[in-house]
Amino acid sequence: MSFERVCENVYLLRVPHGGTTTGVVLLTGDKNYLIDAAGNSEEVDEYIIPALSELSLDISDIECVVPTHTHGDHIGGFKRLKELGIREIVAYELSVPKIIEPLKYNIEIRQAFPKNSPPPSSGLEGTSVDRILKDGDVIDGRVEIIATPGHDSDTVCIYDRLTKALVCGDSIQLNGTLVQGCGAYMYLPEYRASMEKLISLDAECAVLGHPFLPVGDIARGREEVRKLLKDALDLTYSYRGFVKSELDKGESDLLKIAEKLVKHIDGVMPTHMFLPLYTVREHVSELKK
Ligand SMILES: [Zn+2]
Repeated sequence: MSFERVCENVYLLRVPHGGTTTGVVLLTGDKNYLIDAAGNSEEVDEYIIPALSELSLDISDIECVVPTHTHGDHIGGFKRLKELGIREIVAYELSVPKIIEPLKYNIEIRQAFPKNSPPPSSGLEGTSVDRILKDGDVIDGRVEIIATPGHDSDTVCIYDRLTKALVCGDSIQLNGTLVQGCGAYMYLPEYRASMEKLISLDAECAVLGHPFLPVGDIARGREEVRKLLKDALDLTYSYRGFVKSELDKGESDLLKIAEKLVKHIDGVMPTHMFLPLYTVREHVSELKK
């Protein structure tokens, strides 16, 4: 498993994780930066370290690691990076408590729909954060933090001012990944506002945290990035239309609506429905306003 070159100075490593892949992005140049760190220590040892060494890099060559958000499949490797001597973990302010105590948050997001959630990721271990950033802060004049809440409250995109590449993590959902059933957002109005904010950025490529249906994990060129964001925004209105038609038919069971939504978009029914449930709950509450 090697880093794929996305464009000059931007590389994506697809680490196999939970039936899909989770992206680790490397920005190279005078200094090198990692964005996200896969799901656990084993994935760091098995995939990230060997892929770095193929590019003649080791952990001491990395300036810092920055998370796109604090779900286990993106920060599970942080503890191991710290043990291996990474210089700094740098994070958006809202992510900090969840990096220190990731398991606590992992349990918390399963409490909204306990019967439909997977068991907590027991291997998640916390670590300290070395530097805390706010929305709009820039590391070394290059790596900018752009708050893009929606998928979760602390989701950010990392904008590389050098290459104009936008590293999105899970901020842009489209129809979700192969294992989540549909696009997943815990905060719908914020999600839409984030898509609008990103459209105005005019990035030249976008790297997503997983292969999101139907596009995949890389969009190249301004037009393709703009289309990706517009499609993500449009999908929220198409989901809204579907949920409205179910409510109009008298369906009030969130789980049934969520299952029908997954079928409606030709998604793969996930083992645990908690992510589609979050999405449907947001649409129902918007429609009931
Ligand atoms: Zn993810």
